[in-house]
Amino acid sequence: MTDQREYLRDSRLIETHYGEEYEHYYNAIVPPVFMNSLNVFPTIDAYFDSDKTDKHVYCYGRVQNPTVRILEDKIAALEHGERAFVFSSGMAAATAAVMAVCHAGSHIVCVRNVYGPLKIFLTEYCAQHLQITCTFVKGDCLEEFEDAITDDTDLVVLESPSSILMTLQDIQGVASIAAKHNARTYIDNTFCTPIFQNPLDMGVDIVMHTMSKYIGGHSDIIGGVLVAKDHTLLEKLALMRELYGGIMGPMEAWLAIRGLRTIEIRLRQHEKTALAVADFLEKHPKVKKVHYPGLPSFPQYELMKRQQRGNCGLMSFEIDGTVEQAKEVSQALSIFKIGVSWGGFESLVEMPFARMSGEEVEWLGAAQNLIRIHCGLEGEDILISDLEKALSIL
Ligand SMILES: *Cc1c(COP(=O)(O)O)cnc(C)c1O
Repeated sequence: MTDQREYLRDSRLIETHYGEEYEHYYNAIVPPVFMNSLNVFPTIDAYFDSDKTDKHVYCYGRVQNPTVRILEDKIAALEHGERAFVFSSGMAAATAAVMAVCHAGSHIVCVRNVYGPLKIFLTEYCAQHLQITCTFVKGDCLEEFEDAITDDTDLVVLESPSSILMTLQDIQGVASIAAKHNARTYIDNTFCTPIFQNPLDMGVDIVMHTMSKYIGGHSDIIGGVLVAKDHTLLEKLALMRELYGGIMGPMEAWLAIRGLRTIEIRLRQHEKTALAVADFLEKHPKVKKVHYPGLPSFPQYELMKRQQRGNCGLMSFEIDGTVEQAKEVSQALSIFKIGVSWGGFESLVEMPFARMSGEEVEWLGAAQNLIRIHCGLEGEDILISDLEKALSIL
């Protein structure tokens, strides 16, 4: 098994073939959906004596399912991890990771631009029920992490690039500071996917992805995944999934396997389109600022080049105008539909900060009139002319 993985590591596309053991399902080219809640044993003793850690021994669907396992092996190979665990949502994965690493009274260092619901989980639930404290950092300089991480820190939470302002952290730098203090590092790698960035290779302990975005890739599933290398950590993550019970269902896992088959070509197309759109927006007289790490003018462009192989279809921009005018521009778009989320075929637009207090928006380093767009696969010319038409109302 290890040999096969070493051999396959040379090619990311071939890694998406990993975990398919055709002989176990009548040589069908596509792995089946194992739509079963349990597996049976020939004798009572066979049940007790079976090695439940063997990947070919299945017992109960809340713990493991063959379709789910195929997906996990593919993602683990793509992320250069030892093992992956998939969950029913990104938040189920994220909260399980926090619970696996932290305990009552833990200290966490977290970037300000982390996914909103995770921030609420840390600052409200964990603070109130577990007396966990959190230090927030802007995240763009290592000195800030040096100051925030202490010997009492158990977990450092990163998201690079973040999903609204696309801010980056020096992943290798932060991971080595955390390691010096025996703190674990966690990163939300949803923006890059394993195609464009592999944080485990940079010393991060846990990589998380939301599968409703590019891994699923078709706006039709909710799911999450955690990938790690360290055995002690993997055992804890497995236990959290089993006890909280947040495993992904087999049908969703099958759809995610289908999504993985085209992830690299989809990502390359999203990137090409997004670069053209970002370039158009940057040159537009009514656009003040474009947040896209692929633009050479992006403040962290050099860092991006060092740790990423590319960028996806997500970006945000600020217009030269009020919040109301930004709403009008968003509503004047016709190909870009108004909606949260991203990563599918469709182009989307939203204004995440339109109703946030001015104070909070400033703390995040943003503007209330910020427009976030996801460049889908409809084609760059169509998307640029949609934006051109909408911006012309200003
Ligand atoms: C969507 C999203 C999540 C949450 O994932 P769910 O599957 O909705 O729980 C977490 N992080 C990022 C960056 C996201 O975009």
